[in-house]
Amino acid sequence: MKRLFITIAIIATTLAAMAAGRDTYTIIISLDGLRWDYPEAFDAPFFDRMARDGVKAVMSPSFPSKTFPNHYTLATGLRPDHHGIIANKFMVRDNGKVFSLSNREMRTDGRYFGGEPVWITAQRQGVTCATVYWVGSDVAIQGQHPTYWQDYLGEKLTHAQRVDEVLRLLQLPEAVRPHLVMCYFEEPDASGHACGPIVKQTRQAFERMDSLLAGMWQRLQALDIAPQINFIVTGDHGMAWVDNMRVIRPSQVLNPEWTTLIAGDLPTNIYVKSPECVDSVMNALSRVDHIRAWRKADIPAYLGYGSNPNVGDVFVMPDVGWLVTDGEVEDNGSHGFDHTASDMQVAFRAIGPDFKRGYFKPDRFPNVDIYPLLCYLLGVRPAPNDGYLTDLHDILVY
Ligand code: AMP
Ligand code: ZN
Ligand code: ZN
Repeated sequence: MKRLFITIAIIATTLAAMAAGRDTYTIIISLDGLRWDYPEAFDAPFFDRMARDGVKAVMSPSFPSKTFPNHYTLATGLRPDHHGIIANKFMVRDNGKVFSLSNREMRTDGRYFGGEPVWITAQRQGVTCATVYWVGSDVAIQGQHPTYWQDYLGEKLTHAQRVDEVLRLLQLPEAVRPHLVMCYFEEPDASGHACGPIVKQTRQAFERMDSLLAGMWQRLQALDIAPQINFIVTGDHGMAWVDNMRVIRPSQVLNPEWTTLIAGDLPTNIYVKSPECVDSVMNALSRVDHIRAWRKADIPAYLGYGSNPNVGDVFVMPDVGWLVTDGEVEDNGSHGFDHTASDMQVAFRAIGPDFKRGYFKPDRFPNVDIYPLLCYLLGVRPAPNDGYLTDLHDILVY
């Protein structure tokens, strides 16, 4: 009954907000690999300040806990199985091509990006949007980009330049000023991979991001629109320890005659040469410790994975800390594990006129909820999605 009441209240407020139009601005920052406990484990004066003056929460990634699938989930509110970016690397069965981050032609082909990113939803309803790097923003999805966007060129755009760009965008003349700005940073993921999660170098990388964001916030406070800015900081997934001792070597287990592609070190989509090979692969994998393997149709429901045609015929998930690869393992940290594992959870902070002050959300929420949240903050009607604004009713001021 209480939930019904809350739902009705949220619908009424959303409709009122949409009718009135919103005079707020929303900035969402993604720090890649922002594990949920970094702000607790490390020195984080700005994260602490956001918690004090806003909302602190823990967010669950969608499965698989990788960068492309989850950034595009944050943008669309759809689980990877539904939006189509089902991994950082996968086979497109229709044409046999391999989607991967290193294949620019594939990763910028709009046909593979399903659903409707928030910038399209908002722009269709007359709200101007900007990105400073975000998965999907440099792709013509349904023929559209955000009004302001850049080709992804990694560190060519320094962190300081990204901050400058956010500030520039919010000082454009009102008629062309974006009401949504989405901005991405590669840290602390890069350090987390190289050195592991809770370790000096990753601490330093995280603390640099904390002070970078503090600087951005301070400059935003000097703008006339400062009281209208909702500022969200979160990420795509966490980080777990891995090492070169905990590795399963597919070449030692699987006959190459059975498979056309083994994609990803965790999780792993295996594409077979013919349907009969599925049994051979499953049989061989059943003797291997530290992994779980399923036929595509048997992937457990809680992962929300397996309905997409491009998921492998056999799907392998290593235990947290284990990898499936024939390559060299030089990293000390990785992600892509079971999205419910503690190490994969993500920190979330939000501050601004629409967020409660000093509120610690007691339950985790799934990252599919970010899309309906952004739509609510922008006062636009969301496209169909897997999230629920009602999950976040407690963090908002009505
Ligand atoms: P992961 O392997 O899941 O840790 O992916 C992290 C990598 O994704 C980072 O090294 C980034 O360089 C890369 N990345 C992030 N955003 C984009 C983008 N929009 N286009 C291409 N690569 C990206
Ligand atoms: Zn990532
Ligand atoms: Zn990563």
